[in-house]
Amino acid sequence: MTRSLYDLDAGQLEALVAEAGEPPYRARQLTHWLDTRRQPDPRAMTNLPRSLRARLSERFAGTGLELDRHQAGDDGWTHKFLFRLPGGDAVESVLMLYPGRATVCISSQAGCAMGCTFCATGQFGFTRHLSVGEVVEQVARVSTMLPALRPGPGAVDHLTNVVFMGMGEPFANQEATWGAAYRLHQGFGLSARAITISTVGLVPGIRRAAAEPLRVNLAVSIHAASDDVRDRLVPVNRSWPIAELLEAVGDYVAATRRRVSFEYALMAGVNDDLEQAGRLGRLLAPLRVPGSGGHAAHVNLIPYNPTPGTGFSPPSKAAVRRFRDAVAASGVPVSVRANRGVGIDAACGQLRTATGRLGRKVLPLAEQG
Ligand code: SAH
Ligand code: SF4
Repeated sequence: MTRSLYDLDAGQLEALVAEAGEPPYRARQLTHWLDTRRQPDPRAMTNLPRSLRARLSERFAGTGLELDRHQAGDDGWTHKFLFRLPGGDAVESVLMLYPGRATVCISSQAGCAMGCTFCATGQFGFTRHLSVGEVVEQVARVSTMLPALRPGPGAVDHLTNVVFMGMGEPFANQEATWGAAYRLHQGFGLSARAITISTVGLVPGIRRAAAEPLRVNLAVSIHAASDDVRDRLVPVNRSWPIAELLEAVGDYVAATRRRVSFEYALMAGVNDDLEQAGRLGRLLAPLRVPGSGGHAAHVNLIPYNPTPGTGFSPPSKAAVRRFRDAVAASGVPVSVRANRGVGIDAACGQLRTATGRLGRKVLPLAEQG
């Protein structure tokens, strides 16, 4: 189903142009608008004949993303966008600006079926998968808005990084995730290393990532170092417990020689004790990059972003430091992620589209595709 002009590949764009009785070079112009100019609106494609523009906009009216809401936070260095999807559901994308760098955090699904107990998106439930085009179009839309949003000197005017860390579980929607990753690389010209896919730990998805020629960065949301604790936070751990998850990550590292990030959201009194930190270090220290022998794991600690109704709370700064130092003592590289977007509910795990319809609660795995 075409839900965005970005759902069409080169062949389909050629067919579309031929159908309209236009010469083949018009398809190349259309691709230039979509991939280089990142402009999904046919009405703005000024070098196309008026008749073709009219035909395209008629045909694709009602597809694509509609910007519903834009909020700025962190003195203009963080922006959150609510995009309405054809059919009425909505997703959020977050732009994070840093001196010399601009990262967009995109969604792969409206809601999420994985049901992690601490995550707003997970608690909201799942409404639907996004198409390839809907994932790509988030990047296009944010890219074209970016130059006007720069808060000051030092901010760049183009996107440098894309992270699949918004709403949804990318490996529960693998076709759209990989389709989008390839389009961002081949069409938008982002290097594979500028793209990061974050997974809750779906082993089949990690195995596929090991086999894909496009070597994007992989992030694994681990959040606990023992199954009893992880089971309570991440229901999918019952299907792929920590040992199986780490075996798949080990195979991924062996196949790709790439480092892997491990996300760990620290929650007071739940997973922030030194026993978990010590275990985490012991689990991850043996992961090494073949050849160089350097550590293949990097731990990103995220102090929990408060999410109403979940009953979890952030740890004290001292607890974060203690945990970080205990992991570091094992030799595994570890950093604490700076919180962005908390004031506008744009931080990790806070995305939820209060204006969308309430999602179905689906048991983990039921929605895997
Ligand atoms: N579904 C994927 C992609 C989402 S990434 C995944 O889970 O990896 C969002 C990251 O933020 C994940 O690591 C997620 O576990 C984490 N997260 C969710 N809720 C959070 C919260 N309230 N505070 C901090 N991190 C949170
Ligand atoms: Fe889904 Fe990731 Fe949230 Fe879990 S943490 S519910 S997988 S978005």
